[in-house]
This record gives sequence, structure tokens and C-alpha cells, in this order.
Amino acid sequence: MGGRGGSIKMTGGMVVGDSNFKGKVSNIRGLGTVKEEQVYKELKQGVSRYHVVMGVRQREVKVGDLANNVNGVHVTSNGKSEMIVLNSKVFDLPKKEIAARVNKAYESGWSSKTKKPLQHTITHELAHATWNSHLNGVQQIAAGKEIRALYNKWDRDARKKGYGQYARQDVNEFWAETVTKAIHGNSDKYTRKVKYIAKKYKL
Ligand SMILES: [Zn+2]
Repeated sequence: MGGRGGSIKMTGGMVVGDSNFKGKVSNIRGLGTVKEEQVYKELKQGVSRYHVVMGVRQREVKVGDLANNVNGVHVTSNGKSEMIVLNSKVFDLPKKEIAARVNKAYESGWSSKTKKPLQHTITHELAHATWNSHLNGVQQIAAGKEIRALYNKWDRDARKKGYGQYARQDVNEFWAETVTKAIHGNSDKYTRKVKYIAKKYKL
């Protein structure tokens, strides 16, 4: 999750795909360190489900201290997916509070709706790891043309349902939110197409 506009360059050639993140990532640790066992289980389920539907792209899924109010970030380094870091301030909360936070983002029309609020962030960040405009692999660049065309078509479609404002921010957030909806929400022609593109380009 994040805010407005492009990416942030970090030291060491790291780029954070989730955009309004302006701070440091520190105290990076395993998912198993989150306070509630039930939260850990949901996160593990989210990773497994992603691997089943989309294939394995990134196993480096961590919890860390993020100096901002985002739920998580995806880090790209030198054109490659480096890791995902979920915000410990969010994922150390009780399960109910995390669900309430995400449900609030659904109700406000910010996030695209799914039936698995606890797994929304991890799925969204895994989708950034599968494709984002900073990745420089041949397949990612080729897929980018089709993803941008789909984004433009989707953006003009006044009848689409279940999408939040965040998906409109840029092509990266469109991709991440639509993949998340494809896995945990109601399917439609866009969710089917993102899965098709991922398969076609072996992302
Ligand atoms: Zn994002």
C-alpha cells in the first residue's frame, strides 16, 4: 500500500514500488515474529494461495519497521524483486484490528474489495513482485505493454465493479490491486486478463 506518484529511490540502488513510502525499512525479521499466531497463519495462507494461483516469484516476505503509515512495501533492487516487508505496526496488531483497518479501506472506496482482508496486503505486495514497471526482465518488459493497454481500457470503463481509488493511481497499483481481486475477490474480465498475462509471459 502507499500513496501518490512513482517510486522512491533508496540507498544501495533499492527502489520501493509502493509509492508514498518516504522512510527507512529497519529491523527486518521473519513473518513468524508477528504477535498473534492467527495473523501469522493468515499471512502464510496468503503466500500459499498466491503461489498456487500465480506461481512462485518471491519468497522473501518479511515483517519490519517502516517509518510510515503504509501496510507494506515491495522493494525492487537493480531491476529485480528484492523483498516484501509488511509493516510491524500493523501486523503486530490483533487480527480483528487488522481486519477492521482493511475493511475501512474497502468501505471508503480506497482499496479494491476482497473476501480476505487479512491477506490483502501480502497479496498486493506479492503482485508487485510478479510485475512492476521497475523490473527489467525481458518478460516483464514485454508484459508491460499489455498491462498498460489493459490499464487504459480499465480506466475508461465506467461499469467496472469492486475497484477502489488506489488502483487508479498508476499502472503498478492497478496491477497489484487487480491481481489481489483476482485471487481473493469477485472475478471479472480484468481479473481474468491479469492471470492470463502472468501465465502468457511466465511472470
Ligand atoms: Zn502497491
